[in-house]
Amino acid sequence: MGFEERESWKAGRGKRTGAGNGSYESERQHRKKQARGAGRWKKVRVYTFKNIIGQRDLIESLKNAFFSNRVGHAYLFSGEKGIGKTTLAKAFAALLLCSEPNGDEPCGRCKPCLLLKNSSNPDFCLIEPDKGTIKIEAIRQMQDDIMVKPLYSERKVYIIRDAETMTMQAQNCLLKTLEEPPRFAVIILTTPSLYGLKETIRSRILKYNLKKNTFREVLELLNRLYSASRSNEFIASYSGGIIGTAMKLAGSENFDALRNEIIELADQVGREGLVAVFDKYDIFEKNKEDIDTILDMMEIFYRDILVCKRTRNEGMLINSDKKDIIIDSAKRYTSKKLVDNIEIINTTRSNLNYNTNYQLSIEVMLMKLQEA
Ligand SMILES: [Zn+2]
Repeated sequence: MGFEERESWKAGRGKRTGAGNGSYESERQHRKKQARGAGRWKKVRVYTFKNIIGQRDLIESLKNAFFSNRVGHAYLFSGEKGIGKTTLAKAFAALLLCSEPNGDEPCGRCKPCLLLKNSSNPDFCLIEPDKGTIKIEAIRQMQDDIMVKPLYSERKVYIIRDAETMTMQAQNCLLKTLEEPPRFAVIILTTPSLYGLKETIRSRILKYNLKKNTFREVLELLNRLYSASRSNEFIASYSGGIIGTAMKLAGSENFDALRNEIIELADQVGREGLVAVFDKYDIFEKNKEDIDTILDMMEIFYRDILVCKRTRNEGMLINSDKKDIIIDSAKRYTSKKLVDNIEIINTTRSNLNYNTNYQLSIEVMLMKLQEA
């Protein structure tokens, strides 16, 4: 979906900042913190539907509601993490607040649009979890705010991100607003899982499920935003249609270097002595933060060798730019060892999720991968 997810969106008065008991704080407080360097403050652009890839049916439905003046009071956008729920919610919010929409997109120039860009539109508010939850205080503040008429637009828009993190009290509190919302209010909830929300909330909301993007859609977007290099194909494939994952990887400066390093490591580990293999631990220590990605890269590399061995179809390789290394490795590995390696990596992944000793887990993994 939209590619601007990288940029932080600071608007209205509700921006997660880790402040106190909720996730709702005034823009002024927020700016103060920013000034102290407590967070990122980046240039923000107005979100538009045209920058969103895929989700066409859903977008059409939102636009139709807008044009026929049948905008609902409450929406729920569900879908996997990184699929673009908040980006879509922001694009819809921008359209709803714009005073001179350009066809079916916000104009980007009117007062509400400019205020939105500057993160100071009082008719917009984003509520996010603070330390993992949205507490009742945040919803109460929203309820106070929602009673005040909009200042610059015909509507006021509230986005509650990761709405399933609302505590039960917060959900009960929100329910009151959903039962009798002011006529100008639009509340958009986003969630990766519908089931964290009370049935009474779900039944009062227009529900939309976001679909994964296709490989082509992700690749086209990556090629549009980044130079069309071969690693775009890998990223598009690796992302599994989750645009947030693709954008995160594509935006990471050392992604290409890391991938090369990891493929080299995975390629060498099977033909080196144990001492040389233990030396490779450094790479894991240096890139602790990216361990999930590293394990995925290794797994996909072995998967590619297996696919190459079994099908001889180069078109099925995810690491399509590493064809030569893969074909060469296919000669050295048995299918059984490749399946074993994939399993070893998966076991390491779940061990790490259980907070086992990092170094020990990685070293055991390397040792097992090294075994013939
Ligand atoms: Zn506008």
